[in-house]
Amino acid sequence: MVSYKKLGLVNTKKMFAKAVKGGYAIPAFNFNTMEQMQAIIQAAVEAKSPVIMQVSKGARKYANPTILRYMAEGAVQYAKELGCKKPQIVLHLDHGDSFETCKSCIDSGFSSVMIDGSSLPFKENIKLTKKVVNYAHKHDVTVEAELGVLAGVEDEVQAEESHYTKPEEVIEFATKTGCDSLAISIGTSHGAYKFKPEQCTRDPKTGKLIPPPLAFDVLKAVEKKLPGFPIVLHGSSSVPQEHVDTINKFGGKLPDAVGIPEEQLRKAAKSAVCKINIDSDSRLAMTAAIRKHFAEHPEHFDPRQYLTPAREAMKQLYIHKIVKVLGSNNKL
Ligand SMILES: [Zn+2]
Repeated sequence: MVSYKKLGLVNTKKMFAKAVKGGYAIPAFNFNTMEQMQAIIQAAVEAKSPVIMQVSKGARKYANPTILRYMAEGAVQYAKELGCKKPQIVLHLDHGDSFETCKSCIDSGFSSVMIDGSSLPFKENIKLTKKVVNYAHKHDVTVEAELGVLAGVEDEVQAEESHYTKPEEVIEFATKTGCDSLAISIGTSHGAYKFKPEQCTRDPKTGKLIPPPLAFDVLKAVEKKLPGFPIVLHGSSSVPQEHVDTINKFGGKLPDAVGIPEEQLRKAAKSAVCKINIDSDSRLAMTAAIRKHFAEHPEHFDPRQYLTPAREAMKQLYIHKIVKVLGSNNKL
């Protein structure tokens, strides 16, 4: 058993309470490589932001759970080395699929876990979430749960259609499970293809797809039922056109990739939404930088040559999100 407190990590409790009060959201960036971790920490330190580093079950397997625990500890020490006296870093499990996965993460140094029972019937979701909450709270680890289904693909999580969260269910769910935060479905979606072209309208000038707006009425209704309760948005990448264009220009093939417009996320961050998950955008930034580098330097084969600009591109993306979308800068 490794306690996250020993690693210098924190849980989400105080962080979320401050974010809800302050009208901003905490960035939750997915990572599985050293370069992503370095870019996340550099950005958080530079922008003076608390940060959630999260891994899915698949990413944990990719990186190896033992290495991951040391990477998280390394991230805290790295933040201090970069001049941050009291880093506020959470290591979070994204989309935990079972009690066993959540327990294994809690036992190996995670400070926060998500149990995703959203595909289960309501009562079973409550039962599973409560079981995880009981174990997690014994170790002062915070728990995110989910109600409603997001469309799209994220590692092993996959759904064809989205189903908005039913506001009439949230009080019973939060009370019975004791979860610390709740992921809801209001029209965000996993992956770089959040909407099919037929769900969007096309800008007559540029021909680019304009996605349908988020269901702010559902968010408002949830907030009314659970005033001040921390709400989480998954699948909130914006799929920056510049990165998609760079990828396509240098041999990639991502036609009609479309994300959530940043002004909508900015609006959500000012509400009870206090955690916004961003994964695809950093994948796109990294891939665009690497493709461009290879096209311009076909003679290069040292990974440091192409991973240096890739890491820098991710760092700039993270800073942009923190400052321009989430508003979590200068909060340390
Ligand atoms: Zn998700």
